Amino acid sequence: MKSLLVHLYSTTNYYYIRFRLNEVIMENYDSGLGRYPVSSVIVTNLAMLLWIGSGVFAIWLLRPLAGIIFGIVGLVGVYTYLRWVVCRHCWYYGKRCSSGWGIISAAFFAKGDESRFNQRSLLVHIFSVYGFLMLAPMVVLIYLFMDSYAPIQIYALIAVFLFAFISGFILRIPGCTRCKQRAFCPGCASPLKQ
Ligand code: SF4
Repeated sequence: MKSLLVHLYSTTNYYYIRFRLNEVIMENYDSGLGRYPVSSVIVTNLAMLLWIGSGVFAIWLLRPLAGIIFGIVGLVGVYTYLRWVVCRHCWYYGKRCSSGWGIISAAFFAKGDESRFNQRSLLVHIFSVYGFLMLAPMVVLIYLFMDSYAPIQIYALIAVFLFAFISGFILRIPGCTRCKQRAFCPGCASPLKQ
C-alpha cells in the first residue's frame, strides 16, 4: 500500500512538474518568423507532392489501382489527418507557417489546444503517415526486384529516396530553424533548440 502511494505521488508529481515545465518552455517563443515567405510554402508542398507522386509511380509498377489508392491515402494523411492531429494545436494555426499547413488546418478544423503541441505522442501520428509514405513503395519495389529487374524500378527507388530526403529532411532544417516553436516542438528538425 505504501509503495503504491509512493508510486502515485511520484507519478503525479512527475506529470505536474512536466506540465509546469511545458508551460514555461512553451511561453518561451524565440524570435522566429511569424509569417513565412510564399516561396517556402510552394517549395515545401512541391517537394511533398513529388514524394507522394514518386510513391504512386513506384506502386503503379505493381498495380495502377494500388498506386492511385496509395496516392489518395497519402494526400489525405498529409493534408487532412496530420493537419487535424497536429496543426490545430500549433501556434501557427491560421498563420502562414513554413509549409502553409496552419492555414489548411484553420480552413477545415477548429482550433485545438496549444498546450498539447509539445506532446511526444504526436510523433506517433507523424511517423505513421511519413513511415507509410516511405515504406509502402519500398516494400512494393523490393517485391518487384525479387520477381524481375527493370531500370524503371531503380528510377522509382531513387525518386522515392530523393524526394523523401528533400521533403522530410533537407527542407525542414531551414523551416524549423526559423520557427517560433523550435525550442519545444517534438518534431523539430533544427540543430538549434533555443
Ligand atoms: S519546429 Fe519545425 S516541425 Fe515544429 S512546428 Fe516549427 S516548423 Fe513545424
